[in-house]
Amino acid sequence: EKTVPEDPYASLNPEQRAAVEHDVGEANPRPLLVIAGAGSGKTSTLAHRVARLIQAGADPQRILLLTFSRRAAVEMTNRAGSVLQRVMKLRSSQAPTTLPWAGTFHSIGARLLRDYAGRIGLDDSFTIHDRGDSEDLMGLVRHEIGLTQSAKRFPLKGTCLSIYSRVVNSREPLQDVLQSTFPWCSEWEQELKTLFGAYVDAKQEQNVLDYDDLLLFWSEMASDPELGSEIGSLFDYVLVDEYQDTNRLQASIITGMKPDGKGVMVVGDDAQSIYSFRGATVRNILDFPQQFSQPAHMITLERNYRSTQPILDASNAVIAAALERHAKTLWTDKASTAKPQLVLIPDEAEQARWVCNRILEHREAGMPLISQAVLFRAASHSAALELELMRRNIPFVKFGGLKFLEASHIKDVLAVLRFAQNPSGRMAGFRVAQLIPGIGPATASRLLDSLAEAAEPVLALEAFAPPSRAGGEWQEFVALYRALRTPGLRWPADIGLVKNWYLPQLERMHDDAQVRAADVEQLAQLAGGYDSRETFLAEITLDPPEATSDRAGPPNLDEDYVILSTIHSSKGQEWKSVHVLNVVDGCIPSDMSTGSAGEIEEERRLLYVAMTRAKEHLHLVVPNRFFIKQQAQMGDRHVYAARTRFVSPAMLKHFEECVWLTADQAHSKKPMPDSVRMMVRERARNAWK
Ligand code: ATP
Ligand code: MG
Repeated sequence: EKTVPEDPYASLNPEQRAAVEHDVGEANPRPLLVIAGAGSGKTSTLAHRVARLIQAGADPQRILLLTFSRRAAVEMTNRAGSVLQRVMKLRSSQAPTTLPWAGTFHSIGARLLRDYAGRIGLDDSFTIHDRGDSEDLMGLVRHEIGLTQSAKRFPLKGTCLSIYSRVVNSREPLQDVLQSTFPWCSEWEQELKTLFGAYVDAKQEQNVLDYDDLLLFWSEMASDPELGSEIGSLFDYVLVDEYQDTNRLQASIITGMKPDGKGVMVVGDDAQSIYSFRGATVRNILDFPQQFSQPAHMITLERNYRSTQPILDASNAVIAAALERHAKTLWTDKASTAKPQLVLIPDEAEQARWVCNRILEHREAGMPLISQAVLFRAASHSAALELELMRRNIPFVKFGGLKFLEASHIKDVLAVLRFAQNPSGRMAGFRVAQLIPGIGPATASRLLDSLAEAAEPVLALEAFAPPSRAGGEWQEFVALYRALRTPGLRWPADIGLVKNWYLPQLERMHDDAQVRAADVEQLAQLAGGYDSRETFLAEITLDPPEATSDRAGPPNLDEDYVILSTIHSSKGQEWKSVHVLNVVDGCIPSDMSTGSAGEIEEERRLLYVAMTRAKEHLHLVVPNRFFIKQQAQMGDRHVYAARTRFVSPAMLKHFEECVWLTADQAHSKKPMPDSVRMMVRERARNAWK
């Protein structure tokens, strides 16, 4: 009946509206915390508020919107844009739709650092190390200072990096971090100190930053009295989604930029905090009200708009058993008679078949694949399912899994670009030099040493005497490098140059050169979407297009496909139908996370996050036997498992139980204590001896 476009704020409930309207038009908008359960509209309230602020005259260039992933930032910007468009239609004026400062903490940090590099004595040609590069550098430094792993059981390079990262992100002393999280490394405190000192020096010498540096430098700039207020004054509003998963360092960035909390709004749910293994802490949310020089206003949301009542009942039961939480009540008016299913199944092969059947049934009932998702604890858990989906020609895209960018040929191309960007970066340089025939590790080192001493890298390359075997190929590489360093080279011309040089190397090195060449073409296509080499390299390192599909390369996003995702990467999203794989003790909670009550509680929240992604159909699948990948020495194996401890017998009334087991397959439905299960596995492991 309505002829005018609908008012986009009309659907908000009173609490959401209060958050959206909070101090709009005030000269001093007080800090605001929205703490609320899953699906209560936190993210959508945030998007509406962005629109409302712009509508009331805020400058979109001066709004900082921090999200958990680039995808989330794009979605939220679009959402705010469409709200604004509807408002503007009401008044028939033009709506601005871009938010230049929307992104993750890391990507915004990288941008700010590029702008402020000169001010803090950083060379703005810095490159960013991904996790792999950082580990390798840590390993290299460890080797150089003689802390080899074989010496005594000195922690692996990955563990060293995790400890370093935890210290930086939690802002706790090394000693405390060792005690609380890495007790088995405590004896190495002194050596680790030496190692971390040398690691930091190496990063500085090579003009590279790791992920943690992006937050650390930002935080240090923010807490500097002069720079802090300068950076803070770039933004009139700072809005943060998923605040429960931020760490101390991130909180200090916010307080540093905005000591009075003016214009700051954060939303989150303590029951969904699942990143403490990266140093995130719910304390951030709990401390928020008293963190600024003026108290924060707090709003809670209780109505869930996402899930049906039975799904909500089951999820609430799981989280109600948590040892510690901010009690929240959630309600919905989405009645349904369909309870979530608890599906008992013999093994993972059956699980894959069962899930595929259900997916096709749902599709026949009119639910497109894109509104269905399959979630799992670890990226490797979807292997059997991926095979089955492929066998049945069901298209899928996997998030949070093996990345396109991890392929060695893609790494090669990116390394060449990084090396051109930052000649001091040894990890990239080392990789690139060895692509040239006749150059091995020793020559590569010598080359990098001579570059490190040179004022002009191109001249140093030209002066370098390569082994005679390198010959013409060496000259071609020098020509490429010279071209890449030419001032005024217009992106993405760089990637074309690299491609022309690299494709013949591929032919030489690999039998499947054609397949790899297609990936390189894909990467070149992707590169065209970025405005400069620096932004391309930074963005792709920080938030890679992590989708993999049944084909090589990033997926074609036009067609219909099922989403496969780790639970961690499913945060904030929703689907009509959700399958959760391996809902068994050993997977959820993971055997690697049953060391402390705190770890087990985080696993409970993880299951809660998975369950609350579902709008209409939720299937928890419980295979009786599952396959676990273990440390190399122990070998992979099948183990018997039982329903997760987080669904207690008393909770079964919230589920429809579907048993797909024959009587003798159903060994036990009772969760067994860890000790028993471990012992059974230990015995199985030694049976052959
Ligand atoms: P999560 O904790 O999982 O991040 P959330 O609190 O951010 O969830 P949203 O994703 O914002 O919740 O919203 C959940 C769903 O409810 C979305 O589909 C959203 O469009 C819808 N929704 C939110 N508020 C309303 C409302 N007032 N009226 C109708 N639908 C709403
Ligand atoms: Mg959300």
